[in-house]
Amino acid sequence: MGLLEGKVALITGAARGIGRAIAEVYAEHGAKVAIGDLRLEECRQVVKGINALYPDSAIAVDLDVTVPKTITRVVEETVAAFGELNILVNDAGIHRPHYIIDFPVEDWDLVYSINVRGTFLCTQAAALQMIKQGKGGCIINISSASGKKPDPQGAAYCSSKSAIIGFTRVAALEFGKYRIRANAILPGATNTEMLQGLIRDVPGLIEELVDKTPMGRMAEPRDQANAAVFLASDLASHITGDAIVVSGGEFMDS
Ligand code: NAD
Repeated sequence: MGLLEGKVALITGAARGIGRAIAEVYAEHGAKVAIGDLRLEECRQVVKGINALYPDSAIAVDLDVTVPKTITRVVEETVAAFGELNILVNDAGIHRPHYIIDFPVEDWDLVYSINVRGTFLCTQAAALQMIKQGKGGCIINISSASGKKPDPQGAAYCSSKSAIIGFTRVAALEFGKYRIRANAILPGATNTEMLQGLIRDVPGLIEELVDKTPMGRMAEPRDQANAAVFLASDLASHITGDAIVVSGGEFMDS
């Protein structure tokens, strides 16, 4: 029996990258998954792949985490398809690298609107549903190792990821009485389109990164997904308000 048998998860930003891997690995562990993203066509492809292996386990949902109406609709669609909602993974996130003195305020607002406000809005909508069900639940927020360490040109990204860690702790504090747990995952550099787009033009960066990673390789999306399975499973039933770093040891808190 899978670790997530009988559970229903909504995963934001799941058309590709880490979110997609979480959806796929959740389905492998027996969960029903709603795959939400702006990239609806890519969501449908992910759903097709999952349902080919695990029939009727996945649906695609058209989601923009900056628009409250769409979030409410997506929670309703998930419950209509699978009966309830037990797990929310807030994965949707973006990076807009600029030095502070040149930072366009529009990019600052966009990063915060997706990474921080989107995490808040989805958490609010999912928690209301979980509280109504009265069976507890689990919220997993994808922050970043950059939420704890500064990166050049990361003023909006790093601070938004720090905000997610703080938000997760408050969610854990407020939702404990409903048996809803909230935790963050802090990925180190992970091999996705987002990362490739950011480092493509910096020669030698990957080699440098791998060099300072004790496990000797970059993280793959499935490394993050495996942590998300553990946190969502009953094995983690007494873990809340915490932040797990998945970086192969590249990032160690001092
Ligand atoms: P990605 O760009 O490959 O995937 C992110 C997904 O979020 C995309 O499919 C995108 O369409 C979706 N998205 C963006 N805005 C959205 C919105 N408004 N509504 C709904 N969906 C939206 O990125 P990734 O590398 O898979 O990163 C996933 C998460 O992990 C992000 O929060 C990112 O900050 C975090 N993270 C990634 C890394 C890394 O090295 N890849 C490291 C640390 C943290």
